[in-house]
Amino acid sequence: MSTIKEQLIENLIKEDKISQRKITIVGVGAVGMACAICILMKDLTDELALVDVAEDKLKGETMDLQHGSLFFHTSKIISGKDYSVSANSQLIIITAGVRQKQGESRLSLVQRNVDIMKSVIPTLVRYSPDCKMLIVSNPVDILTYVVWKLSGLPVTRVIGSGCNLDSARFRYLIGDKLGVHPTSCHGWIIGEHGDSSVPLWSGVNVAGVALKTLDPKLGTDSEKDHWKNIHREVVQSAYEILKLKGYTSWAIGLSVTDLVGSIVKNLRRVHPVTTMVKGFYGIKEEIFLSIPCILGQNGISDIVKVNMNSEEEALFKKSANTLWNVQKDLVF
Ligand code: NAD
Repeated sequence: MSTIKEQLIENLIKEDKISQRKITIVGVGAVGMACAICILMKDLTDELALVDVAEDKLKGETMDLQHGSLFFHTSKIISGKDYSVSANSQLIIITAGVRQKQGESRLSLVQRNVDIMKSVIPTLVRYSPDCKMLIVSNPVDILTYVVWKLSGLPVTRVIGSGCNLDSARFRYLIGDKLGVHPTSCHGWIIGEHGDSSVPLWSGVNVAGVALKTLDPKLGTDSEKDHWKNIHREVVQSAYEILKLKGYTSWAIGLSVTDLVGSIVKNLRRVHPVTTMVKGFYGIKEEIFLSIPCILGQNGISDIVKVNMNSEEEALFKKSANTLWNVQKDLVF
């Protein structure tokens, strides 16, 4: 007696060899799942694999997404504790690890999350030797360095989400102050994703009109409209959201998905993401910080050489020193 499937469908191709776009997300916490839903809604992958150590949570999240399959165009959503589910991924997004508690800095998470990277990165690379890795777990700049070292991948293929989120927050707040949509407010935050990040006030503009030409004191303590507070707000915003809802998820999910779009569609858009900055701006150590990078199918193909004024360059170097002071003592 043949099954209903056999009666309904005559299979013509026994072996399906179509190569599909595949993305793996490691860590199905608040951030991993926000990334997952945004990537699915934007139709950026044919196959999505999820990995986590927490088996019940992983199974529950996977079933919940699979049941939404009717409403997006990703043909396969799979998951497993075993890293074999990630095999042949073009892009692997790392969101596994502990997050900050209220009042805790990103840098204080470092050794705990380095230990997690040690346990996951070599296996992931074994299953997907040609992948690009996008690091989101904090402290993201230091972990991007650690993942680069542990993975053996070319530096161009290990990307930290870095200041892409900080810059989005910056542009939102500038837009809010001006009554202009953030897409029309241009401004960049570079350096550490965190407390020592550097706002490039000299480049903030709307329609090419640099706000600093309208008031040379922009971003300084003596400027009367208090624009400097916008950067303070950017730095404080994660702490504020953690206090209010316990974690951050939506903006980071959207900002990671924006990076994923540039990579999988080879858009070559410029994003402030974390890469190796040794050799730039007089930095001598293997430090990873955000600077504007061109992102495409091969990862970071180019770096945009930013014209910083002397004050911005000094702050960028200070950001590098802050990270080096933590990174130099790491054991992994
Ligand atoms: P979460 O606690 O909700 O989720 C973390 C997940 O990682 C959990 O499901 C946990 O089981 C999993 N995990 C832990 N060890 C693992 C391992 N060895 N292998 C696989 N999975 C493992 O945390 P969250 O809120 O999703 O945050 C995740 C990370 O992202 C944190 O480090 C947080 O600080 C960081 N984050 C970064 C940014 C950014 O802009 N870069 C923004 C927000 C959060």
